[in-house]
Amino acid sequence: MGVDRRKFLKLAGVSAALGLGGTAGFQLLKPGSLDAAERMPTPYQMVFPSEQGNSDVTPNPERLKGRRWGMLIDMRKLTPAKAQAAIEACNYYHNVPKIPGKQEIKWIWTAPYPNVFPETENRWADPDIKNAQFITMCNHCNNPPCVRVCPTKATFQREDGVVMMDMHRCIGCRFCMAGCPYGSRSFNFRDPRPFIKKEYPLYPTRTKGVVEKCTFCTERLAVGKLPYCSEASGGAMVFGDVDDAGSELRQLLRKRYSIRRKPNLGTDPQVYYLV
Ligand code: SF4
Ligand code: SF4
Repeated sequence: MGVDRRKFLKLAGVSAALGLGGTAGFQLLKPGSLDAAERMPTPYQMVFPSEQGNSDVTPNPERLKGRRWGMLIDMRKLTPAKAQAAIEACNYYHNVPKIPGKQEIKWIWTAPYPNVFPETENRWADPDIKNAQFITMCNHCNNPPCVRVCPTKATFQREDGVVMMDMHRCIGCRFCMAGCPYGSRSFNFRDPRPFIKKEYPLYPTRTKGVVEKCTFCTERLAVGKLPYCSEASGGAMVFGDVDDAGSELRQLLRKRYSIRRKPNLGTDPQVYYLV
């Protein structure tokens, strides 16, 4: 772990003093528990160990290799039914709970144009675009503020650009939520498990007091498969290597005009919308 025990306790203490600490943070404050936590594999290491630098595990030779992963959403192809299929696939396979109201947990969802692109609202825009529901998710930014502000490195960025969450390190301070300008992160105000209609047994569930978000399905990339949303979207969501000029994603970006969310903030989001 990149944070030593004394520093961690100080950070956790600040978090608790601010009234922001979740149960996960308090549990880790028990004597010896942090040292034990450092040795224990996290739930994510158990699901896709080779993705987290566990040298005991040989990576699957079939895994998808990308220098810089990104997502392209083709709004001409994204019908409401396809968007729904993508959302349902993601939610089911990641055990995303269905909690009504403000405590909602969101990995991928739809919102109208003015909410997704507030700074480019144009009342004369094509009504097809204005009235469309845009899929939105974590943008896996090249310059992610959520990573910079996370005091425990629970939020980190992999070499291939995917911004990940290690729930075991998350102390629930929610700095990352304040840092993300896209509302892409959700906090577990309560135990999410009773709100999972049908649990998918191969993916970990979360606990009260941690933040979560879309991970570009790294567990799928690790075994050579595309993210669930991309697979379920009927070609409307193209996942690919942004650094590969020959990828389908790059070819589409060359041919069609694309926009990104709040690019003026300098976060360099890697989710592109073809409009
Ligand atoms: S969209 Fe938000 S959560 Fe995702 S990488 Fe960017 S800043 Fe972080
Ligand atoms: S992931 Fe977010 S809530 Fe968890 S420790 Fe990092 S900044 Fe705090």
